[in-house]
Amino acid sequence: MPFLTEEFGNASSRHEYGSRARIAINAARERIAALVSVDPVQVIFTSGGTEANNMFFGGMAAYLRPSQVVISGIEHPCVSVPASKLVRQGWSLDNLNVTEDGEIRLTEISVDRFHLNGLVSVMLANNETGVIQPVREIARVVRKSGGWMHSDAVQALGKIKVDFEELGVHALSISAHKINGPKGIGALIIDKKLPIEPFINGGGHERGYRSGTESVASIVGFGVAAEEAQRNLDRYQSQVSPIRDKIESDLALIGATIFGKNVERLPNTTCFSIPDIHGETLVMELNKGGFAVASGAACSSHNAKASATLSAMNVSESLSLGAVRVSLGPHNSLDEASRFGIAVSQITDDLKNMAAVAISA
Ligand code: PLP
Repeated sequence: MPFLTEEFGNASSRHEYGSRARIAINAARERIAALVSVDPVQVIFTSGGTEANNMFFGGMAAYLRPSQVVISGIEHPCVSVPASKLVRQGWSLDNLNVTEDGEIRLTEISVDRFHLNGLVSVMLANNETGVIQPVREIARVVRKSGGWMHSDAVQALGKIKVDFEELGVHALSISAHKINGPKGIGALIIDKKLPIEPFINGGGHERGYRSGTESVASIVGFGVAAEEAQRNLDRYQSQVSPIRDKIESDLALIGATIFGKNVERLPNTTCFSIPDIHGETLVMELNKGGFAVASGAACSSHNAKASATLSAMNVSESLSLGAVRVSLGPHNSLDEASRFGIAVSQITDDLKNMAAVAISA
């Protein structure tokens, strides 16, 4: 709050107000660095996960000669779109397939798959299914082939351990609002030797990597959220997964398909579909009952197309259009999970009865 109300200093100013802002930014940088186990100089603040992902592709392509760019078939559009735009600059584009459970096939990973100085980007956890991807294993192979490995860890941060060194990546994108921080702030975490050109140029902020007067309040909020996420990390799984499991066992009783159920997933995410029930309709009806859930990917929920992630998992279009995603947190309770199951069951019955009446009429 002080940075939204009283502390108006610009961190680039030499006076007292400015230096208080600079000290606050540095403290936030340290907290975020601690959450992903890096040195604070490796944290480059951006306007969010979208910018961090675009910065990786734009900044690397500005430095390197065109080579190969490899992404998985389930990446967020802020990875897949900048990656595919590199084709216009002479880069070749290759896609890694996923299994029916939404996990990258490790059988597709070999040293000869990746080119020297190629860019490889694989998300740590998927935003729709929560399925955790084998980033560490892929990074090891990419390094052997002389490529550069990036991971979009926006969904994974705060839910599972995200350790930059342990993952073996060269760059990692994170965003504050996925860990209860402010919207509009994120970071690209970079290897100290990453050959990346500044993506947004200007007054040389963020060690020249990302110019523009820092959004002090957002950065401070991100720092506080990071500190809290780190404090709660050990108990996150044991607090949240029983709630998710309760929801899923209730959903199974009404014939729902749970996507990615057989593989390792984030503890807080469930993505399901009930045959013949449209996801958008279910979301609107649940909203009336006070449940805030999303159909398909939240970032593109205005778009009623079948989700690219579920299509990559070979899910039929009709089941895919029924997809609903529930994201939980430690603030949710088992009682809410029970009420959610009852609400879905009632809405499903009502919608099926209405459809039966319409057909008989
Ligand atoms: N990457 C993933 C996996 C996401 O789920 C999102 C947004 O939900 C983003 C990137 C974009 O992050 P931001 O909203 O901070 O731009």
